[in-house]
Amino acid sequence: MNEIFNKIKQNDLTIIAGPCAVESEQMIFSIAEKIKEAGAHILRGGAFKMRTSVHDFQGLGKEGIKMLRAAADKYNLPIISEIVDVRDMELFCEWVDIIQVGMRNMYNYPLLRALGKTEKPVFIKRGMSATLEEYLKAVEYVEQGGNRQIILCERGVRGFDVATRNILDVGAIALLKKGSGYPVFADPSHAAGRTDIVPQLCYSAVAAGADGISIEVHENNEKALSDGAQAVDIETLKKIIKAMKKIKEIKEV
Ligand code: PEP
Ligand code: MN
Repeated sequence: MNEIFNKIKQNDLTIIAGPCAVESEQMIFSIAEKIKEAGAHILRGGAFKMRTSVHDFQGLGKEGIKMLRAAADKYNLPIISEIVDVRDMELFCEWVDIIQVGMRNMYNYPLLRALGKTEKPVFIKRGMSATLEEYLKAVEYVEQGGNRQIILCERGVRGFDVATRNILDVGAIALLKKGSGYPVFADPSHAAGRTDIVPQLCYSAVAAGADGISIEVHENNEKALSDGAQAVDIETLKKIIKAMKKIKEIKEV
């Protein structure tokens, strides 16, 4: 079994942190250093972005992946990044430690099948309107290829209220934890869509049994090229990590 996947399975709480998108070399090196200091375990950063608008920043592509790798290597961190096109599989297998499937691609069965044939851990996010049954059926597409190094992630489902971007489904975290046998993560950033309540969503996810958190971090979120409104700063990340560890200790009540 892959060493990183093993560590995630053994760790009480794994923190994935980093920007929504890799924006520049300077930016990703700086964030890598700081999230490491803050106690995060894995560096995230999108290089191929699935933006709702074609006019929005689409990511740096292959160059972004290389920057993420170089920054992570400098600070001895594994990386996770999102694949959006099955034709990039070779690139991802060469450069990335954990391959993310974004919520828009949870239904992309050819992509899931191709990931099933790799030896990389696959981090599959739940579609924003997928039932848990549909979600677990998507997971089977990866399993069928022989790859069982799967990490699940609840990232919020679409509701009617625009006060938050999505609704973090804490019941889903608890159910997936009970029944799936895979590590279950939560992404409070895309659930909240706003920085101010990201800490509370982290805490509720951990209380519901999450094995890890994927959180968007930016040093200057007003200037972020994507998802700045939901990114936390480094000081907040530190506080969140500290508090989550305490919650983890008292979870089994
Ligand atoms: C992301 O993690 O940056 C992302 C785009 O997430 P999602 O697919 O959950 O929207
Ligand atoms: Mn994002």
